[in-house]
Amino acid sequence: MISPLFRWILNTFTRSDENQDKIMLNLVLFGPPGSGKGTQAKKLTEKYNLIHISTGDLFRYEMSNNTPLGEKAKAYMAKGELVPDEVTIGMLENKVNKHLDAKGFIFDGFPRNTVQAEALDKFLTSKGTQVSGLVCLDVDDEEIIKRILERGKTSGRADDNDESIIRNRIDVYNQETAPVFEFYKEQEKAQLVHGIGSIDEIFNRLCDAINSNLVA
Ligand code: AMP
Repeated sequence: MISPLFRWILNTFTRSDENQDKIMLNLVLFGPPGSGKGTQAKKLTEKYNLIHISTGDLFRYEMSNNTPLGEKAKAYMAKGELVPDEVTIGMLENKVNKHLDAKGFIFDGFPRNTVQAEALDKFLTSKGTQVSGLVCLDVDDEEIIKRILERGKTSGRADDNDESIIRNRIDVYNQETAPVFEFYKEQEKAQLVHGIGSIDEIFNRLCDAINSNLVA
């Protein structure tokens, strides 16, 4: 992990002024479905004054309004499959473009594969900024299934109520999404955080990981 001081020195002396990165805190909050990303993202958004972008929430909003985008996403979400990249990446970029003056973003549920990760890096670079770091909530499969079925009692989400769909979402995570962790690990930006415990315990672990490595 590169220390914030070293990163600052590197940025200051290797870039011309007009190319200098905007000082933003752009966090990828990562982990399997049901690992607590949504809950923690809300708390982190408040603490660090960031904009929370959950691609799952954006799709559900589009679906509830019966928009063409919602129609496109529906069948994939019902099965627990990923919505195609061209739809997802465009939607994400539109949302970021509406908040370019923000202090930074929490990306929750995005990127979900390495194509999306590459697109995010390229897009943020074009805006003069970058992903600051990825924090991954580490939770085992059986705990996840238990949590999602519990959430399904009140979430109203069809994909939270059927164990075979939940298992498919976990398979998709392991096959397509987990490589995103390695993608950012190669950039020395990925950290694993123990994701079992009380909401506040996990929140404190996330803040420690962010404060010690990502906030100057
Ligand atoms: P989530 O709320 O993050 O659990 O996402 C619910 C569903 O939305 C997923 O199972 C996918 O069908 C879809 N989805 C959310 N984010 C993405 C993404 N980044 N790429 C593709 N599909 C996504």
